[in-house]
Amino acid sequence: MFNKKTVEDLDVQGKRVLVRVDFNVPLQDGKVSDDTRIRAALPTIQYLLDHGAAVILTSHLGRPKGGPDPKYSLAPVADHLSELLERPVQFVDELVGEKAAQAAQNLKAGDVLILENTRFHPGETKNDPELARQLASLADLYVNDAFGSAHRAHASTEGVAHHLPAAAGFLMQKEIQYLGQAIADPKRPFVAILGGAKISDKIGVIRNLLEKADQVLIGGGMANTFFKAQGYPTGDSLVEDDSLEIARELVQKGASKLRLPIDVVIANAFDAEAEMKEMPMGPVPDGWRIMDIGPQTVAAFGKSIQGAGTVVWNGPMGVFEFPRFAKGTFGVAEAVASSSATSIIGGGDSVAAINQAGLADRITHISTGGGASLEMLEGIPLPGLVALNDRD
Ligand code: ADP
Ligand code: MG
Repeated sequence: MFNKKTVEDLDVQGKRVLVRVDFNVPLQDGKVSDDTRIRAALPTIQYLLDHGAAVILTSHLGRPKGGPDPKYSLAPVADHLSELLERPVQFVDELVGEKAAQAAQNLKAGDVLILENTRFHPGETKNDPELARQLASLADLYVNDAFGSAHRAHASTEGVAHHLPAAAGFLMQKEIQYLGQAIADPKRPFVAILGGAKISDKIGVIRNLLEKADQVLIGGGMANTFFKAQGYPTGDSLVEDDSLEIARELVQKGASKLRLPIDVVIANAFDAEAEMKEMPMGPVPDGWRIMDIGPQTVAAFGKSIQGAGTVVWNGPMGVFEFPRFAKGTFGVAEAVASSSATSIIGGGDSVAAINQAGLADRITHISTGGGASLEMLEGIPLPGLVALNDRD
């Protein structure tokens, strides 16, 4: 199934290994405020250190515009990693150049070095071949463990892989195996749950899942556009008028596979304290808007989820940031957690919701990559994965 080389296929003893990780973590007051992504890369880093390699880490952080910006420096990440690994982690304030080359040159087995934010370099997002070559010159081997960036063809995620023996890290492998298996060879019934704010973000995903899944359950703001496409007045609900035509097409194509909410929770304002009402799905009164799926929908979706072999979930069922409108999302989360299905959750807000519900440890796989997981569900090959060496 997974046909790429992994770290375990490399002879890393005494080698310098350039590892692209996804250390795009939130910082607060100069400190890492959520280290989930750093911890997710530890198995690969630890494996390399245990097997006698020197490790050179690269990552982007945030979206710095037009060059170095101290706000997005990886220096705090180096400190944090050092605590997690319980060993020194060197930091160099450039990605390539004399200082980086010198620091890489001096590394010994068991040493760890972090280079500065890849996006401080204009060549990164352009996948500049010269930058890729310079990066490659720092090391003997390349490992990509940055699943969250694998959908981008950048110098540190794609270009560099053409210059060195290139393999996947354990996180990359795990993500691809779970998501790839769900799409290519799911245990059936395969139930997909899609929600979130906008349908336009996820049209390709809905299309692909209507082919691959047995049922596609739709909630969240995106359901509103489907309702309007079917001719219901939707009041002040979030609707994407540009996507009405596509919504109609998807409803037709999806036939009985595509299931929309049968009841909804409406509010008289987009506000945590707004007045709320439950109603069976129908015309939304003027001045009101859909904020969540209703209890009957939670029960109906829950039934499908209970009987599933595989569940893939992306996108909250409602405005879960307001407790009043979080019941749909948490109800579905509870159903997914208690189902015996292989369960996979992706998407920044969806993962936040499952954590908030306290149910994360009852999910088979929580993806660390929002955009990358969506592209996998859409069936698009990830350039950062494609560029790695195939297993012989
Ligand atoms: P993810 O990050 O999991 O991919 P999205 O970013 O697509 O999810 O969508 C999450 C957002 O969708 C949340 O901020 C949530 O408030 C919003 N949302 C969900 N349902 C509605 C709705 N009915 N109206 C407006 N916004 C909604
Ligand atoms: Mg989001």
